[in-house]
Amino acid sequence: MVNKAIFKKLQKKIEEYRPQMIAFQKEITRIKAMSPASGGEGEWDKTIYIKEFLTKKGLTDIVQIDAPDPQAKNQKRPNLIVRMPGKSAKRNIWIMAHTDVVPEGDLKKWDTDPFEVIEKDGKLYGRGTEDNQQSLTSAIFTTLAFHELHLQPAYNLNLIIVADEETGSKYGISYILKNKPDLLKKEDIIIVPDAGLPDGSQIEVAEKGIMWMRFITKGKQCHASTPDMGINAFRAASHLVVRLEKLKKKFNIKNKVFEPPKSTFEPTKKEANVPNVNTIPGEDIFYLDCRILPEYSVKEVMEEIRHICDTVEKDFEVKVEIDTTQREDAAPATPIDSPVVKKLTAAIKAIYKIKARPMGIGGGTVAAIFRRAGLHVAAWSKIDDVCHQPNEYCIIDNMVNDSKVFAHICLQDD
Ligand SMILES: [Zn+2]
Repeated sequence: MVNKAIFKKLQKKIEEYRPQMIAFQKEITRIKAMSPASGGEGEWDKTIYIKEFLTKKGLTDIVQIDAPDPQAKNQKRPNLIVRMPGKSAKRNIWIMAHTDVVPEGDLKKWDTDPFEVIEKDGKLYGRGTEDNQQSLTSAIFTTLAFHELHLQPAYNLNLIIVADEETGSKYGISYILKNKPDLLKKEDIIIVPDAGLPDGSQIEVAEKGIMWMRFITKGKQCHASTPDMGINAFRAASHLVVRLEKLKKKFNIKNKVFEPPKSTFEPTKKEANVPNVNTIPGEDIFYLDCRILPEYSVKEVMEEIRHICDTVEKDFEVKVEIDTTQREDAAPATPIDSPVVKKLTAAIKAIYKIKARPMGIGGGTVAAIFRRAGLHVAAWSKIDDVCHQPNEYCIIDNMVNDSKVFAHICLQDD
């Protein structure tokens, strides 16, 4: 149950914050926070700015957790946990956002300075404005609204403001979960607002397993006019590409939570072989991108692939070597009837008047780190998904209204 009068007050307060939210976005965009792995000095300055901003506003229950990193400014990657006690300590609400941004990329592709926010047509343009500062700002101002109105959320509200999301999370959420294993609990409401659709209808609850493979087919090079003197690796590899299509039939379970609802096996990159037309290639290299439903293990797919390679080796007298450049089993899915999904669904309906639905995606988000730790987490936000692109922007209405969604969740006392 949500007290309508109180929710109205919160909505009004958040709406009044609009200019402050825009100003906050401008300030934090100026403070470049790139991980040393991307050529930056880390998140120190930005995180300290945020900490001081919160402290000045009276939000003083802040724990700073520094992950040591010799490459970063002050040899530390700072993370913050901002806490606000709720009416009940039965469970905690956690909203996670990250401070780091990806590099601006090719400056010629930007219409404006990536680190000087420009407001235009209801949008804020700049690197990081959507990923992940939109949600960072939304969550901070939700907390501020409760604080300034002297209201209490139904449960303890905690913001986790992390470093290093863009380059693997080792110094961010993985560090926190490793060093404070009892901090988050299975019954907690954990939201990662760092994925979503333009209409806000996607609540991401599951990911596919992921495997990237490199196939090196070895034959014997010779002159193209005397093909019998060699073994054409390109021909054998081409048959292999076609035989790999069998994977679709073998691993054919459909799971409607996912879009697309099936495992996918796509040949993608192809390396150049011989530079001239009149040589039989002795070696061929191509790649396969596999996205595997949680119903299957990466291992069983791998075994089937090896078996298919064996048939090609036998039929074409080649050797096929396989390298796995990326391999990750699917993390256990968040149940679609878990409290975090129910609460988000109710809040999204109240603010955006739409029915959101739990969905699975192709893989590779930070939410999987929580799921592997046995926690129920949902990734949600209302975004155009222009992250990492030139001319990245945040829609101001989304930033303000997502903040109201978080406020609604904080008021739900069931
Ligand atoms: Zn992000």
